[in-house]
Amino acid sequence: GWLRALKCDLDLTRTLLVTRQAGVFTSEIITIELETRVKQARGVINDSLYLAGQDAGLSDRLIMQLIDIYGWDIDYRLDIRKGDSFRVIYEEIFKNREKVATGNILAAEFNNQGRSIRSVRFTSANGQVDYFTDDGANMRKAFIRNPLDYGRISSHFNLKRKHPVLNRIRAHKGVDYAAATGTPIKATGDGKVQFIGNKGGYGKTIIVKHGEKYSTLYAHMSRFRKGMKHGQPVKQGQVIGYVGKSGLATGPHLHYEFRMNGVHRNPVTVPLPQADSISVAEADEFRIHSSYLLALLDTPDAALLALYDPKISL
Ligand SMILES: [Zn+2]
Repeated sequence: GWLRALKCDLDLTRTLLVTRQAGVFTSEIITIELETRVKQARGVINDSLYLAGQDAGLSDRLIMQLIDIYGWDIDYRLDIRKGDSFRVIYEEIFKNREKVATGNILAAEFNNQGRSIRSVRFTSANGQVDYFTDDGANMRKAFIRNPLDYGRISSHFNLKRKHPVLNRIRAHKGVDYAAATGTPIKATGDGKVQFIGNKGGYGKTIIVKHGEKYSTLYAHMSRFRKGMKHGQPVKQGQVIGYVGKSGLATGPHLHYEFRMNGVHRNPVTVPLPQADSISVAEADEFRIHSSYLLALLDTPDAALLALYDPKISL
């Protein structure tokens, strides 16, 4: 038979339709609105949060989100007890009444050893998405502890160390992570590149300034990430360069320093500050937003649909 029509999904919302009439092809793009619904899941932990999340019907992506939200507060290897529980509400995306994707966790509650921590998702005016406690404190810390995903500490912060190359007492004002050349190095917090270049024994070095109080330094890189330059804004977790042994180094490693008010602190033990709380300017909006989400969180799943208003932008 002759080809009459051809349908091709361009993305989730757009379909290309090509039709043939009297020997002439015409094409049009049909747009289908997606529908967002909220769904609730709850679970009790027997073995691990991951398994409990699976039992509750959460996708791997949502379980990872839940782990990320509470990972700043809870050490999943040490703090989890049998009987700890969680509750989340999250988005599901529907097209033609068929589920096509899961969105994000909107609000969650985690009960850990009798302590209940509730959190809601909120997008600040500057576009930054974070999870906050109901009184507006950020769930996230301003810094991640380790600039490398893989790497072991080969030399600790030590103000009386004998330098391995110079062979005399010289304070080691940072921590060394041994890792393969080329291992990505992440900025540990949001900030701006204050220095990028060669810095004597430090070799290829980047210093990131985080507001007025903090700065971090990353030394002995093999190379910088393409496009990095002085004054460039960087985000927490963004790759800024790669492990190497430039400068005075016996082997490939990252030398990492953490400074607070200009004073070197031990990056492994320094208490990390919370990321920014809800600003005064956004306090009212946040209060309305969070009370709505927490009301949804307290609503049984069967009744959620009636309460949920998709016109309220989340
Ligand atoms: Zn070092």
